[in-house]
Amino acid sequence: MSFSNLGLSKKVLEAVTAAGYTEPTAIQEQAIPHALERRDVLGIAQTGTGKTASFTLPMLTLLEKGRARARMPRTLILEPTRELAAQVEDEFNRLGVNHKLTVALLIGGVSFADQDRKIDRGADVLIATPGRLLDHVERGKLMLQGVEILVIDEADRMLDMGFIPDIERICKLIPFTRQTLFFSATMPPEIQRLTEAFLQNPVRIEV
Ligand code: AMP
Repeated sequence: MSFSNLGLSKKVLEAVTAAGYTEPTAIQEQAIPHALERRDVLGIAQTGTGKTASFTLPMLTLLEKGRARARMPRTLILEPTRELAAQVEDEFNRLGVNHKLTVALLIGGVSFADQDRKIDRGADVLIATPGRLLDHVERGKLMLQGVEILVIDEADRMLDMGFIPDIERICKLIPFTRQTLFFSATMPPEIQRLTEAFLQNPVRIEV
């Protein structure tokens, strides 16, 4: 299998080559074509399987179509920890080198000022931990009505860390017409229940 058969854009394929990725991993091969059709995806996959690129690559391709409404963010990636959020930002920047997209990393433990500036300038992509994202929303700095693609990553860790009520609040702020890409390493009953609430007719992929 090669990346060129998955339906990704030329700009994305060039970045994949530049990153040195020669073949898609199992989750990438299975998730990318469905994500490109704007289907919801439930990916059961651990870190290390290439799951970050499995949502980043179709997201970049889909963002080439359409444009932001009133400079609102078009995509939101939720991560349970600052470290994971920062890793996803690195991967997003590596694979998005050919896209002129503005990324805002919204994580706790650092000042609001830099994050506010990024939001004010109009970020296309938010990579956030749930608590800090809600802080920005509550301070009136951020509107999520323009979000077209929502990624909930490491859902089982979100559960362990007590973030599920925050995620439920965040989902209510995003239009129902969104596409949702949901990843978890394990599927305990609470996570199963969440997938039923948050996803519409998802493609289930287990690697
Ligand atoms: P992840 O599971 O997203 O944390 O990815 C694990 C590591 O694999 C990261 O360092 C990625 O940069 C790398 N990676 C992702 N996809 C590929 C691929 N198709 N070929 C080679 N390396 C990859």
